[in-house]
Amino acid sequence: MTSQQQNYVGGAWTDSDTGETFESTDPTAPDEVVAEYQHSDESDVAAAVDAAAGAREEWANTPAPQRGAILREAASELADRKEELTELLTREEGKTHAEAGGEVQRAIDIFYYYAEKTRDLGGTRKSASGGGTDLYTVSQPVGVAALVTPWNYPIAIPAWKLAPALAAGNTAVLKPAEDAPGTALAIVGALDEAGLPDGVANVVTGFGDVGAALVEHDDVDLVSFTGSAEVGHEVYETATADGKRAQCEMGGKNATVVAESAAVEEAADIVANGAFGVTGQACTACSRAIVHESVHDEFVEAVVARAEAIDVGPGDEYDMGPQVSESELQGTLDYVDVAQEEGATLETGGGKPEGDRFGDGYYVEPTVFTDVESDYRIAQEEVFGPVLAVVEVSDFEEALATANDSQYGLSASVVTADHGEAERFVTEVEAGVAKVNAKTTGLELHVPFGGFKQSSTETWREQGDAGLDFYTIDRTVYDA
Ligand code: NAP
Repeated sequence: MTSQQQNYVGGAWTDSDTGETFESTDPTAPDEVVAEYQHSDESDVAAAVDAAAGAREEWANTPAPQRGAILREAASELADRKEELTELLTREEGKTHAEAGGEVQRAIDIFYYYAEKTRDLGGTRKSASGGGTDLYTVSQPVGVAALVTPWNYPIAIPAWKLAPALAAGNTAVLKPAEDAPGTALAIVGALDEAGLPDGVANVVTGFGDVGAALVEHDDVDLVSFTGSAEVGHEVYETATADGKRAQCEMGGKNATVVAESAAVEEAADIVANGAFGVTGQACTACSRAIVHESVHDEFVEAVVARAEAIDVGPGDEYDMGPQVSESELQGTLDYVDVAQEEGATLETGGGKPEGDRFGDGYYVEPTVFTDVESDYRIAQEEVFGPVLAVVEVSDFEEALATANDSQYGLSASVVTADHGEAERFVTEVEAGVAKVNAKTTGLELHVPFGGFKQSSTETWREQGDAGLDFYTIDRTVYDA
């Protein structure tokens, strides 16, 4: 059943001033409309920012544990609706039921986590008194936060921005991505049920200029963006030129190094999980396997076997869902052509799967390329689909250099039995997240997350305590 969704502005569900809507569709069956959303414009953004600015003082002055109590109640509301939200996420974005359920649970956990964190905020101070002067610091919220999020984690990413923003006493306007806005609206629905004061959190849906209008608004004090590098750098330039605090988390071209000492079957599991989980549509997805020549052929055979064992299809009983949209699918298929033109060998996959169950869905086969040189586009550019490029190397030195031969630096892992190699890897690999004997995907919510190079603006991290730092400003007080 199609539902008509409204923006959430100033504590009320509202239609856009444009009177227009847009639809989200089911990537497994694109003829099926999942929901209709408000096609907002600049005036809707302005109303949402006004509401956030108006609510700012009262929320900043609300005792932090009281803010936390509302976040905790919202987490509980989301938990009550977990199955329904899992279903919505699956239908709108295409993740399998298990993947979607995991993501919804992550959003719930994030709200519980930052609810607890509020107990450490605001009520205590560190004092270094001497000579009759009481010297201390106070932490304050920064102000009105603009939050712009992508479609690939449509509930977890809005949660990991909204929860710390509100916990720290900021107010916010969120603009979710057009392909899957439904679960972001569910978050503010839960906050509303939990008694969040009007205007503290607002959501406007839309596309085109809506995100830019939000980032550029004069009354926005800080901007947190997650999405592509192309858009992220533009957002960062615009926001910081206006004197706003900004953080942009962007794409990746994440590598797993398979060292000479690696257990090949374990390495193939790690790489296949990282490359093909969530249909390869993760910023931390493994898209390069950098493999020592002594284990290369055995590894390729093992990883191809895993790719071919993945059951692609709709619904609960399959392992891998579709890509989110026709343009994302086409982007992946275009890279398959590019890789072959460059000279890579297609080992498996590379096309749309055949069969009745696929209908017009945006499915693509798990794909593995070998004979890839590090300077090929397939080894350098983010594909954002289930495509793995295998690069063969002759020693660990070359493996490390190849892993670092990238404009991106988000997540990287090594599979090795050599402790010295593992230590060198985590020290020298140019990535914000470095893992040993583990897949590049998967993050714990209590540790900082962010990348290097084109993956991130680096100044600020998200999640854990780092997530709160972005939304907090410290002041120093001398009281003589
Ligand atoms: P995207 O095209 O960059 O869009 C991200 C968000 O920005 C969307 O809400 C989009 O709105 C909005 N937007 C577009 N143009 C804008 C502008 N000029 N100013 C302000 N906002 C604007 O990215 P996506 O396709 O949704 O997401 C996939 C990308 O996100 C991949 O590159 C992936 O690696 C990255 N990602 C990074 C992380 C991380 O933490 N590093 C996590 C997840 C995903 P519309 O959708 O309505 O156009």
